[in-house]
Amino acid sequence: MPAVTVSARGEQRIRSGHPWIYRTDVVDVDAAGGDVVDVIGPRHRRIGHALFSDRSQIPIRMLTVGDAIADDTLIRARLERAMAMRASLHIDATAYRLVHGEGDLLPSLVVDRYGDYLVVQALTQGMDRLMPVVIEALVALAAPAGILARNDPKVRGLEGLEQKVEVLHGTIPESVVVREGPVEYDVDLRRGQKTGLFLDQRENRHAAAQYARGRLLDCFSYHGGFALLLARHCPEAEAIDISADAVARIRANAERNNVGHLQAREANVFDELRRLERAGSRYDTIVLDPPAFAKNKASIPNALAGYKEINLRALRLLSPGGHLVTCSCSYNVSEEMFAAVLHEASVDSHTPVTIVEKRMQGRDHPVLVGVPETYYLKCFILRRVE
Ligand code: SAH
Repeated sequence: MPAVTVSARGEQRIRSGHPWIYRTDVVDVDAAGGDVVDVIGPRHRRIGHALFSDRSQIPIRMLTVGDAIADDTLIRARLERAMAMRASLHIDATAYRLVHGEGDLLPSLVVDRYGDYLVVQALTQGMDRLMPVVIEALVALAAPAGILARNDPKVRGLEGLEQKVEVLHGTIPESVVVREGPVEYDVDLRRGQKTGLFLDQRENRHAAAQYARGRLLDCFSYHGGFALLLARHCPEAEAIDISADAVARIRANAERNNVGHLQAREANVFDELRRLERAGSRYDTIVLDPPAFAKNKASIPNALAGYKEINLRALRLLSPGGHLVTCSCSYNVSEEMFAAVLHEASVDSHTPVTIVEKRMQGRDHPVLVGVPETYYLKCFILRRVE
């Protein structure tokens, strides 16, 4: 079997439960990009099996530690376990994540279910090479009407892999209707962001709905994820997104879901929050669900400034007794960092708030303990006390 030797520090990382080894800890390579390799420690001890990439900053992603063999049977068994876990959650939706990469011990693989269809992403050379095994297993386990590969993320380019969207099994219609609780969405699996929808917020939307009342402002709404559900509890509801396409989708979804009072408009949230403040507007329920501001470590300071700005402005617009649902999906911004930003925003806006709920990505996006990179989505529900 092809082999990669790692440094003592690399071995230590694996022994402490982290599945990634960085380029600087790779000592010797006798393998080609995409191989499943033997990982060897500095004292020639076999540590386990891994996916190997010859382009990535993370060349090694462990599949097994110890004697277990990383073969097709293991991949099938892990897919089966990942699907059984979702079945056990009794998710009240027809769209959810079936496989969440490292969180399901299937590094760099994403599988999302949208009704009868599956969308897959293989984000490293090694997982890309395993796709025939993965697809065969998914067909056997889930009998989908179609499987679409959304292999267009930028990281594939960094891996030296082609960025492409292709049907790998059956057929994929132009749009698919899925349901999340009482809300129906029309999804374009080929062109939507991520794999079509932001499935990771499902449980946070339902949590937020418990507090929603009065006037609602949903910022960074995309296709209306929060707005469509929360508007059922709010007699006045507004959704904002910078993308014209997203706003058109919110409007169509509002009609489909009989929440005709939901007003969607195209605007930059940063400008809009300032404008609303100048106009003296007040809201009882505000949602902030921006895109990841910190895509890497270097952008953390700017990201924190961005989070502070929108949270400060939103708190100024919040009525006493009202709720702010505020999220960060940057894994480079930890929960502690985000909490500190919220603290500053509360102090600077002279708005005393309590933490009603501290939440994260939905349970179908499991966090692997010891792997902070798998905990990316933070969601605080704050209440303005007075
Ligand atoms: N809340 C959504 C997901 C939001 S994704 C849901 O529950 O499904 C982030 C969205 O923010 C994208 O739709 C993107 O178009 C939008 N966006 C990014 N920058 C923005 C800005 N400055 N102002 C308004 N919208 C923005």
